[in-house]
Amino acid sequence: MAAIYLDHNSTTPMLPEVVEAMRPYQGAQAAQAAQADAFGNPASAHQFGRRARQALEAARERVAELLDAHPDEVLFTSGATEANNLALFGLAGVGPVAIIASPIEHPSVAEPLQELKRRGAELHFLPVDASGKVLSAGLKPLLCEQLGLVTCMLVNNETGAVQPVSQLCALAQSGSGLAAFHCDAVQAVGKMPVRFRQLGVSTLSLSAHKFGGPRGLGALLVRRNQRLQPIFHGGHQQKGLRPGTEPVDLAVGLSKALDLAVQSMVSRAAHVSLLRESLVVHLKATASPVVINGPADALPYTLNMSFPGCQADALLMKLDLGGVACSTGSACSSGSLLPSPTLRAMSCREEVLTSAMRFSFSWMQSEGEILDAAHQISQAVSQCRTAAE
Ligand code: PMP
Repeated sequence: MAAIYLDHNSTTPMLPEVVEAMRPYQGAQAAQAAQADAFGNPASAHQFGRRARQALEAARERVAELLDAHPDEVLFTSGATEANNLALFGLAGVGPVAIIASPIEHPSVAEPLQELKRRGAELHFLPVDASGKVLSAGLKPLLCEQLGLVTCMLVNNETGAVQPVSQLCALAQSGSGLAAFHCDAVQAVGKMPVRFRQLGVSTLSLSAHKFGGPRGLGALLVRRNQRLQPIFHGGHQQKGLRPGTEPVDLAVGLSKALDLAVQSMVSRAAHVSLLRESLVVHLKATASPVVINGPADALPYTLNMSFPGCQADALLMKLDLGGVACSTGSACSSGSLLPSPTLRAMSCREEVLTSAMRFSFSWMQSEGEILDAAHQISQAVSQCRTAAE
């Protein structure tokens, strides 16, 4: 059986159209056809630079259009980890402030928050219900005079739960009116409509490699007139907010991948829903007892399922040997034996916490592949349960 990749929340393969779109900006053909190439530095004042700048700005414009932002609100970064760091330190890094956050953030938000706390910020966490959704009613009692920042992701990377970001944002602004709002939208962009202006947030992060684009490029959308301190210093690029030579090829790749994702968003989601449902039906029939972690209206790209009686790490290894690649949670926290903070915040029982697996799908997969995976998973679960007896 060919290996089956069910870990698309951690990264996705680059689409052939994206590779093709990036090629002219990589300079690989420069020796033969320098004129046709556009590998220049977009800050250079000659024709090579101008060609690169045109492509860069066209990519920025397209990304802005697809996400309902202005082109001058789009900053390209090396990925979402950098975009989240820039947002959090850039919005709240100076002076003592109170910060309100969800307790289910990705480590690229959760760890900068701990660093801000070490630097004197006061940190408060929002409540989460058993399905993994942040309770927006929990925000009001936390609002205070010195509130500087609220941060909440749009879609959770472990459960697919969509969070009430626009409600939280409206509530935060009705409270003090001054607090900035950051949203990590990495698992939402390309998979559901994301409208920056409509959400009302101050900053929003995304990452190209989650939707068929290149690894190594993300973006931070920053509202016009929002004060933001840079975290890197050293150049005038991107208004000095994110200095450094812009990787034009990667920006073109991000914009192409986002274009394709937005064009086919409805049909991709419908196909992925069928795949997810098929896996659920099969595993309920062949690997019970199982527990689905997440709300009924989670985005269909993710299925977080526990197999009580199994140890997630042992199951993960068995599945890898059997040719199924999945994850026990966020790729950035796997390798640590600590149970997921997301499932902890959902108050999952211990046996649910320690046996949780994350399967994440692509619209490019077939139902046959998912049925093969289901077969491997139920076999591995049964072996793990027998070994534990
Ligand atoms: N936020 C979320 C919700 C994610 O899932 C990820 C990727 N694991 C990131 C941030 C970090 O993205 P990047 O790999 O681009 O740094």
